[in-house]
Amino acid sequence: THLAVTITALDLTGERLAMAAFEDVTPLEQAGAMRRDFVANVSHELRTPLTALIGFIETLRGPARDDAAARDRFLAVMEREAGRMIRLVGDLLSLSRVESMERSRPSSRVDLIPILRTVVSAQSELAQSAQVTIRADLPDGSVWVVGDADQLTQVFHNLVENAVKYGGSGGEVRIEIGRIERDPILRGPAISVSVSDRGEGIDPIHIPRLTERFYRVDTHRSREKGGTGLGLAIVKHIVNRHRGRLRIDSAPGKGSRFTVILPEQMV
Ligand code: ADP
Repeated sequence: THLAVTITALDLTGERLAMAAFEDVTPLEQAGAMRRDFVANVSHELRTPLTALIGFIETLRGPARDDAAARDRFLAVMEREAGRMIRLVGDLLSLSRVESMERSRPSSRVDLIPILRTVVSAQSELAQSAQVTIRADLPDGSVWVVGDADQLTQVFHNLVENAVKYGGSGGEVRIEIGRIERDPILRGPAISVSVSDRGEGIDPIHIPRLTERFYRVDTHRSREKGGTGLGLAIVKHIVNRHRGRLRIDSAPGKGSRFTVILPEQMV
């Protein structure tokens, strides 16, 4: 089976779907419930590494006190847990910044090609250790859009990082850029950038919810890979701010393709 789900600023976001379930409450109550859920999620996400850290500190004080090998092993785990908290807090800050900017449209002209090249070289180390090859089919010239260069860098960074993380070792991640004469949903000419992997793919039931904060197909796997569960939520907000859309195609067992479609506009 091959499934395509379209998530746009105007129609089917994961959050709208979630809201549909609360038909008999007011929008204010819905917003309150979503905020409480979010706070509960953040608390849980922070408490997990903190609990692990405290457990290791106790072990280092007690049973592992004189065991140098155990101490090194525990310190490495503690470093990883602390790193996870740093990434989580960083992603939370990005998310809140991106959300607060969502109403102001970006107004600079940016060339996507150097942005994509920067993302590829920034990810090359992670790709190498995951034994994944990144192949970017980029044209020699420039491809201009109206946007925020830092935010667009973050979008492609998150998508390429996911493709490397979930793409399976020995695989290939492909980045392609193209022009769409008339996008049926944006109703005009558009630029598309797709990031494809040949990983495990995503079951269709999960696709509409992937951009929700903290939504993961497999929490254990995401944690193991150092994920925060916020990457695609950040992507969604940035793409919305750019009046674009994110398209997710996936064939379970074969791979996934995440396509960012941005309106082609004149400055
Ligand atoms: P995480 O930090 O968990 O990677 P994201 O918001 O970036 O959070 O992604 C949400 C979830 O979507 C991931 O946990 C994973 O289950 C799924 N996902 C994202 N990208 C891919 C991909 N390229 N292949 C398979 N699953 C993916």
